[in-house]
Amino acid sequence: MLNIRVLLPLALLILAFPARSESPGCGELVDLAAEVRAMRDHDPASGVDRGREFLAQAGEDCPTGEMLLHSAIASNLHILGRSEAAVEAVDAALSLIGETDDPVQSAAVRRTAGVIYWEVGAHDRALEQYLAALEASRAAGDVAGAARAAGNIGNLHNSMGNWEEARDYHRQALSGFEEIGWQEGVAGTLVNLGALSARIAETLEQAGETSEANAEHEANLEYNRRALDIFEEIGNPRGIAYAADNIARALIHLGRVEQALEFQRRSLELRREVGDTSGIVNSLLTGAEAMLGLDRPGSALEMLDEAESIVPENNRGLLVEVLGLRTDAHERMGDFESAFRVQRRLISLNDAQAAEDLAARVEQLQQTFRAEQLEQELALQRARAEVSEQRARRQQLISTASIVSVLLLLLVLGLLYSRYRLGRRVSHTLDRAARTDPLTGLSNRRDMTEHVDRAILRRNEDNEPASLIMADIDSFKRINDTLGHQVGDQVLVHVAELIGKQVRGVDVTARWGGEEFLILLPGTREDGARCVSENLRRVIGESPPQINGRSLSLTLTFGVTEIEPGANFNDLVKRVDDAMYAGKARGKNRVVSAGEVVA
Ligand code: GH3
Ligand code: MG
Ligand code: MG
Repeated sequence: MLNIRVLLPLALLILAFPARSESPGCGELVDLAAEVRAMRDHDPASGVDRGREFLAQAGEDCPTGEMLLHSAIASNLHILGRSEAAVEAVDAALSLIGETDDPVQSAAVRRTAGVIYWEVGAHDRALEQYLAALEASRAAGDVAGAARAAGNIGNLHNSMGNWEEARDYHRQALSGFEEIGWQEGVAGTLVNLGALSARIAETLEQAGETSEANAEHEANLEYNRRALDIFEEIGNPRGIAYAADNIARALIHLGRVEQALEFQRRSLELRREVGDTSGIVNSLLTGAEAMLGLDRPGSALEMLDEAESIVPENNRGLLVEVLGLRTDAHERMGDFESAFRVQRRLISLNDAQAAEDLAARVEQLQQTFRAEQLEQELALQRARAEVSEQRARRQQLISTASIVSVLLLLLVLGLLYSRYRLGRRVSHTLDRAARTDPLTGLSNRRDMTEHVDRAILRRNEDNEPASLIMADIDSFKRINDTLGHQVGDQVLVHVAELIGKQVRGVDVTARWGGEEFLILLPGTREDGARCVSENLRRVIGESPPQINGRSLSLTLTFGVTEIEPGANFNDLVKRVDDAMYAGKARGKNRVVSAGEVVA
């Protein structure tokens, strides 16, 4: 906290002493820039306006003058707390450094830039400008410039807690200013050395080393007293105000509060005269601390109210200090509700700072992230392509597999079907063979038995008539005996063919025995069967088989019977057989009905 309140104004203080210009030709512009720069100590707002006026009038052939005007405007803006505008102005000044041939003025601009960058938190850029300024000043033999740059660097080290480096640079600055007999510089450096002691004291206090801390406070007091003397001698109100404020703070720490208030009032008055907003806030803070030291929290609050009302909007650090003391003051007055309210504002301020830091960090991360995201997206696309390729391959595989499966299934079905058909054919053939007489191709006994059984069933259940014919070749034995067994077979086949041709499709003809044929005539009564028998007898008589070029006369004897209701198979066959034998007995080559045969 101390570094902001003390070091910042001190850095500005040193800048209050512009370097001499050696730029020829543009001398007037350079002088005007120095004038503008000096205005920050008493009227920075007008300084900005005047600076811009001069800048508008400036010709294009005077980069040094232009650069110094930008820099002077930046200094005035800085005093007014307009940090962003100050950074813009000082950037404009820095951009002209390359066009100037004045290292001393360039170094001065770099120092101004360093102060402004430092305040907006750009510490690296600040140090870079200070070091460049120090180097340039030394190279140009500009002792004053080098001493100022050393002072700035010392302040930076102080703010970073590098006490040794800070003291070293400040001593370099002090010897430089003493060498050239520059009282302002000497005074400013003494104030800086005092600020360093104040910070060391603060650290010692926190460590509980009170006597060592007090020694540093005394040293701070001494540095600032010497500085104050010099400022008074040369009549620099800003310097007096800074030194006085520092003395007041040192005295508060040493418990000499009444005495401190005298210096504080003097400092505040001078700052009000100059219009140094940040300075006024700092003096009010010192006053409030003194009042708290005197246990007058009401008075402290009055000062803090004013401080809060004027604190530059973008100076969050200063506002945090104001609110911190306000909390103390409210607590001292027993107004814990207000203390709590202020504390909450403090927290939100710190949150806002954290959010800003975070935003910067996020911005940085985003750059990295974008690159990574791009890579991840590419990887994702590659993976997607691979997946779809695999999918396509799988789909293809599935299609192929499906086709193969279907083909296999068809093949299996085909095989099964052909096996089934073959089986059916085989079984049908076997079945037919089992029911067929191999010589004549007529039904055999087994097949005929089944057909007759069904006919009996239909006669019994549906009252459907049916008849049977038993036909036996007459004197067949003699054919075999005279012409041979093979001729006998030929005769059998011949007779079978003739019968087949004469009967209907629904009729069934079987070879019942050696040269006996049984014919079933469904739907036929006994009369009908007799007619069929007579017709067969006639046809066979008219169509004798041709054996060795000779007609063989052939006759058959027929027995006929109708299937009666309730008939029994064996009885039925016996009836028709009996009828046929009756025909044999009656002289063969005739038809005999069962009804004609006396049982
Ligand atoms: P009938 O007029 O009384 O019927 O006298 P038949 O000689 O025809 O009858 P029989 O029962 O005396 O003789 C039947 C003969 O038929 C006896 C047998 O050798 C012959 N025979 C039986 N089956 C076959 C056959 O498959 N082929 C041949 N060539 N002869 C057969
Ligand atoms: Mg016979
Ligand atoms: Mg016979």
